[in-house]
Amino acid sequence: SKLIYAFNDENSSGKDLLGGKGANLAEMTRLGLPVPDGFTITTEACNAYLASGESLTSDLLEELSDAILSLETRTGKTFSDEDNLLLVSVRSGAKFSMPGMMDTILNLGLNDENVEKLATKTSDARFAYDCYRRLLQMFGEVVYGIHMSVFDTIFESYKEENKYELDTDIPADGLKEIVEKYKEVYLEETNKTFPQSPIDQLTEAVEAVFKSWNNERARIYRDLHDIPHDLGTAVNIQEMVFGNSGDNSGTGVLFTRNPSTGEHKLYGEYLLNAQGEDVVAGIRTPQEIEVLNTQMPEVYEELVGITKNLETHYKDMQDIEFTIENGKLFILQTRNGKRTASAAVKIAYDMVQESVISKEDAIMMVDPKSIDQLLHPQFDDKALETAERISEYGLPASPGASTGMVVFSTERAKALGEAGEKVILMRPETSPEDIEGMVVAEAIVTTHGGMTSHAAVVARGMGTCCVTAVSDLKIDGENGVATYANGVLKEGDIISVNGSTGQLYLGEITKKDQEQSTEFAEFMTWAKEISRMDVRMNAETSKDINAGFEFNASGIGLVRTEHMFFQEERLIGMRRFILAQNHAERVAALDTILEYQQSDFEEIFRLSGERPVIVRLLDPPLHEFLPNTENEINNVANQLGVTTELLKSYITNLNELNPMLGHRGCRLAITYPELYEMQTEAMLKSLIKLKEEGIETNLEIMIPLIVTAEEYKTLSDKIKARAESIEAEAGVTVNYTVGVMIETPRACLTAEEIAPLADFISFGTNDLTQLTFGFSRDDAGKFIGEYVDGALIETDPFQSLDINGVGQLVKMAVEKARAHNPNYKVGVCGELGGDPRSIQFFNDIGMSYVSCSPYRVPGAMLAAAQSVV
Ligand code: ADP
Ligand code: MG
Ligand code: MG
Repeated sequence: SKLIYAFNDENSSGKDLLGGKGANLAEMTRLGLPVPDGFTITTEACNAYLASGESLTSDLLEELSDAILSLETRTGKTFSDEDNLLLVSVRSGAKFSMPGMMDTILNLGLNDENVEKLATKTSDARFAYDCYRRLLQMFGEVVYGIHMSVFDTIFESYKEENKYELDTDIPADGLKEIVEKYKEVYLEETNKTFPQSPIDQLTEAVEAVFKSWNNERARIYRDLHDIPHDLGTAVNIQEMVFGNSGDNSGTGVLFTRNPSTGEHKLYGEYLLNAQGEDVVAGIRTPQEIEVLNTQMPEVYEELVGITKNLETHYKDMQDIEFTIENGKLFILQTRNGKRTASAAVKIAYDMVQESVISKEDAIMMVDPKSIDQLLHPQFDDKALETAERISEYGLPASPGASTGMVVFSTERAKALGEAGEKVILMRPETSPEDIEGMVVAEAIVTTHGGMTSHAAVVARGMGTCCVTAVSDLKIDGENGVATYANGVLKEGDIISVNGSTGQLYLGEITKKDQEQSTEFAEFMTWAKEISRMDVRMNAETSKDINAGFEFNASGIGLVRTEHMFFQEERLIGMRRFILAQNHAERVAALDTILEYQQSDFEEIFRLSGERPVIVRLLDPPLHEFLPNTENEINNVANQLGVTTELLKSYITNLNELNPMLGHRGCRLAITYPELYEMQTEAMLKSLIKLKEEGIETNLEIMIPLIVTAEEYKTLSDKIKARAESIEAEAGVTVNYTVGVMIETPRACLTAEEIAPLADFISFGTNDLTQLTFGFSRDDAGKFIGEYVDGALIETDPFQSLDINGVGQLVKMAVEKARAHNPNYKVGVCGELGGDPRSIQFFNDIGMSYVSCSPYRVPGAMLAAAQSVV
């Protein structure tokens, strides 16, 4: 198959073969945009190269020389022509954009002769030698692995010795001297000379890009973003255009909308008389993009037109790289721009209003996993007023509110971060080598760079708080201090970082919940409209319930009643119950708990009203209610008026070898039916009270850990009998149903027996996963990491549903339950109900709803909507 496609090739293919950059260069060429000509070597060629033990196949070499010939014909330039000298860039580009991970070489084709030709032709020796020294630097680093600092040191000390302040101050002769020194570096570092033949340069560069697919930075980035390691990278060879050919030239990057806030306004930076990545490298301070409107109005206007064109074409916000050569604009790259979660929502919302995309498109533009960034707390305004500011400057590169201890290196960030400390990584500027430190950091602060610098781009991608360009902070990495106007920061000092404003503060600052934008609220109503499944919350406190309803949860999928027992006074009642000698004593003990339960339920049902609420009856083993330490045991024995020995004997009796497989869940109620009867009474009484106030409710009582149909029948009969007697006593009837929590494999396997006895099923995925795998969820942490790393299992099954195992059990149980009643109500409670990948599966097997913790509700709703689009 073909290994090379010209940008203007009509049969050109997609991202899989051409990589993101190559596919978009071809597409922009077809749209008629000003893209320098070139061609793309496919990812297949890269994979063939890596598979063949890193040698270029003869097929590829042949196609390459053909491709160069036709590029020469199309451009009318060659690698040796005096008047029409061809120079190219060699640019990597994988299917998924991996910022800063792979390497690019510019000005390839220059050598000792060609640099003179370029100087003569442009009558600008300074420009020609600037290009040459850049080639020597980039080629040396990318192809021969010579550290960039070796070149930088030569360059900087030349500037210093000759008292030049800016790179652009160095005259042609100076650059010539630097070029000679650079060539010596090749000899010293590699024992080879810089290859003078353009074709040799090209093949070596292509090989280096292929190899860079496997460099460590790239591997770390791919692991972090779940990108497979076998995709390979494409290589783009493209005619050079020169942003460094004087003050009528320049280079820049821009986003078609603000990537931090989503505001619909061009957002970017450029530098005159500069090449390649000068803008993002933070060497000189770039200009804001609007300034171009005054410096080169025509170019600016053309650029604005192109950005609109590209947005409409790709139906998404674009991240664009451009270069201006002697007043002429060229587009070098476009891709869908990375953005913060709040920008993603705003952009999706705005583009629907602008009729560029549909609501369904909008739903697909936001990553459900990123939604929780929007819900995270922010610093409290009052606390901010009195907090001590560290800096006046600083750009809000990635939003968030973080507090942690200052560290100045990736090594320290890793060491402290892995030891569980919250760290703020503080660097002059980050580079791809810092990626491991950035991953563990709570926040990233740089004193250089801008909104598009490495730190900013990577932080936004990870959803990590980031402030860049804090120019009034000076970092002295060697001595481990940072100086600001009023003091110094040392490693370990606590600071707070506001990624939404760009400000830094001393010490910890209290936080408050975030307010939601109107765009977000509207966007979420679209998600709700589009999805088939409902999303409920798992909650029992008023605070959580209110939060979940704010997010439009359609009900409560799980109230864990045991959470209401774990309070000092209530524990006494429960402990009396455990120590009771007979039925009468047990009932007396439960009576004290009844009151509490009733008022708790009343609060929950009042907040929920007609929205459905599942209350799970008591679930944990009884030993969880008894004290552990000697001291506690003495106190509790005192409180209950029994001897320490007696209490200890109970504790010993309740001790189980496998408590999670022991006397818990509905098994407790088989032994002590009084427990569930008391809880039923408490619920029914509070429903009756609310009904008398005119409040309608919708209770669903759920029995946990059912294994057999007979077990369910025995308990549900008792529950219903108690409920009926309470109703009869009050002369009032209320809404309630009784259902089963399916969380054992046996219940799945026999769902056709159990389901017809119950009004509904809710799957408890945590226990079901634990029992299906035979992995204790409390202890599996010891080895699950090894299983995931070694690819023995795909993902941690407690975080994302094991579709092939546990998922099949759930699917089977749903089918059995629905065999006689296609509308049978089935749902999922447990945290997998908040995981997007699991939600897709639950949608596909016809689940009525999923339920998860309140702050995961919006993300779950979005995932539910995406699973039907
Ligand atoms: P990255 O993937 O790291 O962004 P690129 O391949 O996009 O790497 O190259 C980085 C920069 O180099 C581009 O943004 C552009 O400024 C410059 N560049 C690449 N190719 C050319 C070219 N043919 N002419 C001029 N500048 C180029
Ligand atoms: Mg780069
Ligand atoms: Mg680029």
